[in-house]
Amino acid sequence: VVAVLGAAAALFAIAAGVFLGSIFGSFPTPQGALVKSGQIVGVDTGGAYVWIVPTSDHGVVLIDGGIDPDAIAVHEALFGRKVHAILLTHGHGDHVAGIGSFPDTPVYAGPGELPLVRGDVLPKGLLAQVFARLMPRPAHPDLREARNGELLTFDDQSFEVVHLPGHTAGSAAYLWGDVAFTGDSLLGHDGAVAPVHWVFADDYNQNLDSLRVLLKTDFERIADGHAGVHDGARKHLLELLK
Ligand SMILES: [Zn+2]
Repeated sequence: VVAVLGAAAALFAIAAGVFLGSIFGSFPTPQGALVKSGQIVGVDTGGAYVWIVPTSDHGVVLIDGGIDPDAIAVHEALFGRKVHAILLTHGHGDHVAGIGSFPDTPVYAGPGELPLVRGDVLPKGLLAQVFARLMPRPAHPDLREARNGELLTFDDQSFEVVHLPGHTAGSAAYLWGDVAFTGDSLLGHDGAVAPVHWVFADDYNQNLDSLRVLLKTDFERIADGHAGVHDGARKHLLELLK
């Protein structure tokens, strides 16, 4: 009996290893600590990007808060510029942790996402739930919900909110010029695009359905939560969804 149990445990361990390997193998390699593309800069906060979009009054808008509660690399990259707002692509901890270090900055999230941002509810994804229990939630005094289709304007820069439920219920992309900031709803990876693995998603198939909505907007490139900037994203999204 002991031998059978031992063999079963070994098989389980191998299966779990293969499973976890397939998940983390599906994650793209970040393009670098700082990704510059045109006017925007992506800062790797330790596994998740924060995007900096400059405004004409020498301020910036940030996309996401990053994984570092002190947001050290982000504050360094700001060179003292005023942050008008932080736009969250979703409420997972690796995109939210850094907002606590910007207490005077309004933070926007997509429709229905604020309970997840606050930590009042847990994400549904199998592994997302595990990480949510491990990561503390930053308290923030100025959380705001953005509406689908709303145009958020800060100084001379505008961002259109596109609700993309699936990765989380209130996931959103922000359209800015030809760029869509997509968080985990769509990542560039090896000359293709795909959503983050289903173990991190509330509902992977709903995520795919939402991407059909994104396809109706006129972005050409994406700046995502973990890989960097992906040119030709529209073409690659068409290939993913056909
Ligand atoms: Zn996520």
